[in-house]
Amino acid sequence: MSSPLSPRAVRLLLQDWQAAGLTHLYRPEVPAGQQPAACGLPSVEATDAVPLIVEESEVELKKGRRPQGRAARERALAELSVCVKGCTRCKELADTRTQTVFGVGNPEAKVMFVGEAPGADEDAQGEPFVGRAGQLLNKIITACGWTREELYICNILRCRPPGNRTPLPQEAGNCREWLDGQIAIVDPDYIVCWGSCAAQNLLNQTEAIGKMRQKWYQHGRAKVLCTYHPSYLLRNPEAKKPVWEDMQYLLADMGLTPPKA
Ligand code: URA
Repeated sequence: MSSPLSPRAVRLLLQDWQAAGLTHLYRPEVPAGQQPAACGLPSVEATDAVPLIVEESEVELKKGRRPQGRAARERALAELSVCVKGCTRCKELADTRTQTVFGVGNPEAKVMFVGEAPGADEDAQGEPFVGRAGQLLNKIITACGWTREELYICNILRCRPPGNRTPLPQEAGNCREWLDGQIAIVDPDYIVCWGSCAAQNLLNQTEAIGKMRQKWYQHGRAKVLCTYHPSYLLRNPEAKKPVWEDMQYLLADMGLTPPKA
């Protein structure tokens, strides 16, 4: 079993998540006498949200403490990934996964990509977007003039849903703490939500993905752009054009132009 985070590490994580806009944590029903889960971040069955309160004095302590620099962010992400490895909040997913799929890339990325959930290839390799959808995503990344390594890539879920079914709202809620933690640590300028699952869950929206494109949403400090999922593009190649328009929309806002093909 992974070792729990120190109280100080937990407090700093909570402060980061609070700074990123997290307002509530979910309080589990822990049967009397049962040990709390590793990391002090308990498993969640009940959806009984409690306000996240970090005391003033601790906020003072935190001033200038958001992990700064590559090494500090790498360390914070590594600590968080240890918690994720031991996570059993979604029993079915924890029972059926080969491994958790945390996220990869630059801990100081300006742009973070958020997908839906690991598929079979990701579950086998422990890295997001390494299957067919990932290969298409890599082409989009190259067309934008980027490398995978300069971005940060993760998902709404860190475990593969059996048969690649759509994540359940409760699963997305259980995994939200980890996503918020990754966003708080990487602190990107931009987030791209790939597909409706990412867009609706991150932004707490119900609108169709086609209606969410070509406009900016805000999440904490980050500007958020939503577009179609690469898996959708594999089934509907005609959607590649609007996705490319969305990437140009993003690049223009960043003051960048795509390299000549
Ligand atoms: N689809 C996703 O949304 N994420 C992955 O990591 C792989 C496929």
